[in-house]
Amino acid sequence: MEEHKRLFVGGRWTAPGRDEHLAVVSPHSEQPIARVAVAGPEDVDRAIAAARRAFDEGPWPRLDPAERIAAVRRLAELYRPRRREMAQLITAEMGSPISFSKFSQATLPMMLLDAFAAIASAFPWEETRSGFFGSDVLVRGEPCGVVAAIVPWNLPLFLLVGKLAPALLAGCAVVIKPAPETPLDALSFAELVEEAGLPDGLVSILPGGAKVGEALVNHSGVDRVSFTGSTAVGRRIAAACGASLKKATLELGGKSAAIALDDADPAAVAEGVKVAGLMNNGQACVAQTRVLVPAARRGEFVDALASMVKELVIGDPADPATEIGPLVSRRQQDRVRSYIESGRREGARLVVGGSEPPSGAERGWYVGPTLFADADNRMTIAREEIFGPVLAVIPYRDDDDAIRIANDSDYGLSGSVWTADGERGLAVAQRVRSGSFGINQPYSMDPVAPFGGVKASGIGRELGREGLESYVDTKSISGARVATNA
Ligand code: NAD
Repeated sequence: MEEHKRLFVGGRWTAPGRDEHLAVVSPHSEQPIARVAVAGPEDVDRAIAAARRAFDEGPWPRLDPAERIAAVRRLAELYRPRRREMAQLITAEMGSPISFSKFSQATLPMMLLDAFAAIASAFPWEETRSGFFGSDVLVRGEPCGVVAAIVPWNLPLFLLVGKLAPALLAGCAVVIKPAPETPLDALSFAELVEEAGLPDGLVSILPGGAKVGEALVNHSGVDRVSFTGSTAVGRRIAAACGASLKKATLELGGKSAAIALDDADPAAVAEGVKVAGLMNNGQACVAQTRVLVPAARRGEFVDALASMVKELVIGDPADPATEIGPLVSRRQQDRVRSYIESGRREGARLVVGGSEPPSGAERGWYVGPTLFADADNRMTIAREEIFGPVLAVIPYRDDDDAIRIANDSDYGLSGSVWTADGERGLAVAQRVRSGSFGINQPYSMDPVAPFGGVKASGIGRELGREGLESYVDTKSISGARVATNA
């Protein structure tokens, strides 16, 4: 069993302030695979003090952006050969099928480092505007300070790098809290941060649970919070940040809809929903788990979806043939099963799956992929984020009705439309209230495209130029040209 006795505080491996540990347990075998030291309040204080020194006194925020870009590129180069190992580590700690981990869990983070370095190269860090009152105004992008980055377990490294890379490029210092289920990838990434030779104090990684997260959010030394996780925790963080007037980016839950228009090919929709609704064992914020189908063709769509779900290969996530692995924890397994029961109770028609363990899964936190048909958008399975492999097919009358149902949700994160007519698809895409959307494809998380939600799916954007901007404060300096010329 792996043992991590030290914490990565301010770029150095140091002993934790207290003797507290957490166990990382394999979702497949239910056996512990690692023991990891947990950060205590004194470690939070040390990490923030180091970050403050790096930000307030160190060179990093004042470097030419090109030097920060070079450091992030170095990190990408160091990471490149470690992708395979990282994919295996993430699969072991949280149960993503290795076929998914290889790209989405382990390669995308490297692409993010590359993409953000390119975005920072093209970023207008300074701009002189011809002032209204005669004097020029220099508008500067400046780093927003010390960032607390709080990450969930479902896409742990992608989300960590999606916060760390733009924050570092902007000139910030960052204290990262990985989820207690998935500290191993973060600790492994810390080794690369150390090798990359970033200045002292700039990066800390503090494993732990809600207590560590709360200590970071409430700490007076933190200037900005970047949180990805559940809407319930997001609301608490927003309230705490409101009280102290800290800015926060909140990437929260979703309950997105895949809309099959009446001219769509059922087989293509089923293949699309396999990714859009069931990737990562259904544990994706962007999961499109409401499948809206035209009432007049509902039978064809349900049959195609049922065939797709029945054929999914369930099993050991380390096996390259596996398409659906275990859920991250027993708690999550119980939760998903109780949603399946609520679907049955509230009258949706169970077509495939159910809350019983799938055959061959005597141990491990497995839930068989489940398809409900004839669901109503008012049912619990259509309203709440399940975070497991459960799809609800909801019939609609016409395009307006489909859009009404898609928008009748507390959330607004993602979605897709499937149609033979691109223009009709675009018209639907423009009317669905969400931060991202795909036409004849599940929404693909492109590093250049800003990502985030509306309504209860969050506040702010990550990725793309907007993702970098969220760590940049703008300052206007008037008279700058006059001073230079004097
Ligand atoms: P969670 O909200 O329980 O935890 C997320 C992180 O916050 C963890 O690191 C956790 O330890 C920490 N945390 C918990 N309570 C806290 C508190 N009071 N103060 C500060 N930190 C606290 O979520 P989860 O179960 O780890 O992740 C699943 C959720 O994440 C889902 O709702 C999913 O939709 C969401 N998610 C959203 C996005 C997005 O970009 N919108 C991406 C991935 C996951």
